[in-house]
Amino acid sequence: MKINKQRLINMLDEVNNISSGGEGITRLAYTEYEEAALEWFIKKCEAYSIKTHRDSIGNAFGTVGPTKGDGILIGSHLDTVKNGGRYDGALGVIAGLEVLITLIENDIKLERPVTVVSFRGEEANILGGTFGSRAFCELIDYNENFIRKLKNTPFNEKQVKDTAGYQYYKDYIELHIEQGKKLETNELNIGVVNAIAGIKRLDITVHGEAGHSGTIGMNERNDALTHTAKILLEFDRIVKDYGEPNIGTVGELYVEPNLPNVVPGKVNFILEVRGTKIDTIREITEQISTFADNNYQVTIKPDVEKHPASLSEKIINIAEEVCKESNINYQVMMSGANHDANSLSNVMDSGLLFIPCLNGISHNPKEFAEPSDMENGANILLGTTLKLMS
Ligand SMILES: [Zn+2]
Repeated sequence: MKINKQRLINMLDEVNNISSGGEGITRLAYTEYEEAALEWFIKKCEAYSIKTHRDSIGNAFGTVGPTKGDGILIGSHLDTVKNGGRYDGALGVIAGLEVLITLIENDIKLERPVTVVSFRGEEANILGGTFGSRAFCELIDYNENFIRKLKNTPFNEKQVKDTAGYQYYKDYIELHIEQGKKLETNELNIGVVNAIAGIKRLDITVHGEAGHSGTIGMNERNDALTHTAKILLEFDRIVKDYGEPNIGTVGELYVEPNLPNVVPGKVNFILEVRGTKIDTIREITEQISTFADNNYQVTIKPDVEKHPASLSEKIINIAEEVCKESNINYQVMMSGANHDANSLSNVMDSGLLFIPCLNGISHNPKEFAEPSDMENGANILLGTTLKLMS
């Protein structure tokens, strides 16, 4: 039994007709465009007699099979970033839908309910990413800050609380584009994800002394930006020393006063480390903190810390088996980016499958996945679903 590649592509094209305009695809969370995509999804389910429902914040579900039993959930999200691509999120939902349609078409007697879900607000910053799936898994922290932000959304507290619905399901699988280059570089078709990277950020300020760029000699300077440059080179060395899968980035940096004729007096930046082991992540941030502290005048404040999420051994093993049986080349790998599967992994067995995307480009109109890779991905999703049932 195989999925229908052309139908998969047609459905993806259909949903990508919904965009607020401009380059690429824009279906921002909680806007009429995300809503239109979710409505399209519900109508598509209904056209195939798939039972549908929306929960209290609008996460959308379509179910086939028995009404009782531990459900298998397949999904992702239909919202995008501004001027995003055609595949990030949408592929996982459409492939899930295609799996359900294939099961119906082949008249498969289902032992367990199989549901495709489109979670809301995966890309939305206002309430934090993966919002729909975190609410579904009861992972929301109702702190003051959250309650304040909620006022600027279409939801109230009760609606968010009522969204919790994970109890009816036991397994979750998500198909997503890799958004990196590993599969492409290694000429592989599928990535079976074993962990979603944990993340730790430090907010670092390097203090120097501002002064006239023309009058203060090179040996008289206390240049905060030059100090920062040396800290960043050391950071690069430390992370590379630890090796894969650890990665370190400084992508945000503020120079004061940021003028061409003034020696920088102060630099503030966010330093980020991602990896699969929280202890290693902490060691790296401690080493760079010690280096900075011993050599320069710095203020270091802890920022975000998120633990890595381990995905289900059971689902990893099944997905590997399905790849082998289908002669699909795969590798087991980490995901550096967060996904809805991260939320689900807190409350049920969860799996995440990657397919290659061209040059690793994502969150960009140039995002591209080969139809044959999408077909492979959806077939592995189908095979994994079937094996979960047996
Ligand atoms: Zn995504």
